[in-house]
Amino acid sequence: QANAKESLYLVSEYANEYFQKVLQKTDQGQAIGKSYFKERGFTEDTIKKFQLGYSLDEWQAFTDDALGKGYKLEFLEKTGLTIVKDERRFDRFKGRVMFPIHSMSGRVLGFGGRILTNDKKAAKYLNSPESDIYHKSNVLYGLYFAKQTISKEDNCFLVEGYTDVIQFYQTGVKNVVSSSGTALTSQQIRLINRLTNNITVLFDGDAAGIRASIRGIDLILEQGMNVKVCTFPDGEDPDSFAKSNTLEELTEYLNENAKDFIQFKASLLVKEANNDPIKKAETIRDIVNSIAKIPDAIKREIYVRECASIMDISESVLFTTLAQIGKKEA
Ligand code: ATP
Ligand code: MN
Ligand code: MN
Ligand code: MN
Repeated sequence: QANAKESLYLVSEYANEYFQKVLQKTDQGQAIGKSYFKERGFTEDTIKKFQLGYSLDEWQAFTDDALGKGYKLEFLEKTGLTIVKDERRFDRFKGRVMFPIHSMSGRVLGFGGRILTNDKKAAKYLNSPESDIYHKSNVLYGLYFAKQTISKEDNCFLVEGYTDVIQFYQTGVKNVVSSSGTALTSQQIRLINRLTNNITVLFDGDAAGIRASIRGIDLILEQGMNVKVCTFPDGEDPDSFAKSNTLEELTEYLNENAKDFIQFKASLLVKEANNDPIKKAETIRDIVNSIAKIPDAIKREIYVRECASIMDISESVLFTTLAQIGKKEA
């Protein structure tokens, strides 16, 4: 069992080297993969640091190479690098640029692969499947590179995607990780919580994304962490914003726009309720639900007072609702 796991690590490690070699040393890698990364503004140092690669646009180039080097089909299949269908073998990541996903100690667990065309029929990103070495709910993209700076800055920025992490890091904000498209889990938050008690969630600049992400944030409150949130201008995400700004501009933007999560949520809900009494009642329950997740009673009380003021209702209504929720949970 331990040996089988080690075999999965080894084949992933090999694939990571192979995809980097293809990017750096083949004509197709240079013409397609490298120019894609360059267009996104990634420097050579960044490409090397994050070990970015390219998977040839051929049905089984990688699989054939790995089998030729003695890696067993069983492990290629278990890591998802190779898809086996009726005796035929396909490279999962055919024709994609490759983002290796590392463990906290730097071992390769899996990959994300992005298509280069804007073909709406194909999935923009493909990811490695769950395996004995890759448990998605337990991994944060970028944590291996960010961990020291997270401790030093005593804060962690949480973004949506691979390229947000890379562009932030390149610009000089290195305490940044991503859950890469999956809903945030409490195990992932625990990984951050070992390094800092402060987290700043950065949303893509689209309203739908913000609504969806807000739910997951209660999980962060439950662990007693301080949560701030920050939005970007419409149509921008952390990647595009960092790409077109200097470190000073980016830092200034984050400092000025990061807001306490509970206050942010209360203001957002007030705006949405728009003085409709029924909506406002729902809104009160919603915000109190979030406050109820906070383990520290003193913090809960402070938030009740602030939200009462933001939502223009009496503190006692909020305290009563909070007590009711407390009873239901007990
Ligand atoms: P890019 O800038 O390369 O277009 P992005 O990171 O801005 O990508 P989003 O659409 O904001 O992409 O999605 C955020 C994250 O969600 C991605 O980085 C990726 O991890 C994941 N994701 C996006 N689209 C898909 C998809 N079709 N299948 C699986 N995961 C996806
Ligand atoms: Mn998005
Ligand atoms: Mn995005
Ligand atoms: Mn993007």
